[in-house]
Amino acid sequence: MKKKLRNLIGRLLAIFFISLGLTRRVKKRAKNGEFILSVFFHNPGRELFEYCIKWLLKNKFVFLTQNDVIAYSQQNKPLPKNAVIITVDDGWQGNIENVVKVAAKYKVPVTIFISTEPVQNGVYWWSYIEAGNKNVEFYKTLPNDQRLTEVKDIKDTIVLNREAMTSDQVKEIAEYDCITIGGHTVNHPILTKCNDEDVYNELNTSKIVLEEWINKPVDSFAYPNGSYGKREVEYLKQLNYSIAYTTKAAYLNESSLQNILELPRFFVLENISNAEALCRMLGVWQAFFD
Ligand SMILES: [Zn+2]
Repeated sequence: MKKKLRNLIGRLLAIFFISLGLTRRVKKRAKNGEFILSVFFHNPGRELFEYCIKWLLKNKFVFLTQNDVIAYSQQNKPLPKNAVIITVDDGWQGNIENVVKVAAKYKVPVTIFISTEPVQNGVYWWSYIEAGNKNVEFYKTLPNDQRLTEVKDIKDTIVLNREAMTSDQVKEIAEYDCITIGGHTVNHPILTKCNDEDVYNELNTSKIVLEEWINKPVDSFAYPNGSYGKREVEYLKQLNYSIAYTTKAAYLNESSLQNILELPRFFVLENISNAEALCRMLGVWQAFFD
């Protein structure tokens, strides 16, 4: 009920923003090549994800690959007009039907950033916290070792169904021409709460494991929870990652391309109205609420 009311208000607000011409203005700026629209999802439903892709296609957006974005960062060329990069975090099992199949249907490139431990064991750590009726945001503030110990205690008492893809499914989706697999650490920790050795291992081991699964190089990355600092950027460089995404809600313009390991993205939440998804995808929503 609370969720329904929240979505209704969200929908009305989004319709209001659209009627003010805010989305039209973003469309115009994209057409002028002011930025590359950078959008990410977690576990969207098929209807919502397909709506977003169809809207972008209808409005003549060009879908970039990670290599396209890297190339733009290296060349001194103007940004492409009406361009978008789509990324999806974590490696949810629902992504297969709701993201990969849609990307294949419309032949648009999508990058999926995958944490390897949930793939091996089935469940993301925060789901145990939620199932134990505890506050996930509080656990994100704990030093990594303490969080791991406390999560393990809850894990030992609860059995949850698989929510991440299996390694076989990761291999299968990596075969699609439209899908790029990127790194998202092993355990999805809050990297800024880890010691140096743990950060290095999280970035290194996940890359090795993914590359072994998919038999392709993995050189793109997204910071779990968007948490990072200078140390994380430095380790990514050392480990030959070429491109990385934060969760900073901003337009990816020429100045953001100067920091190829700290690219911004607009988040599209799941289970919301299409109107709100559109406003979030175009960064209209975040201008007011983030
Ligand atoms: Zn994540």
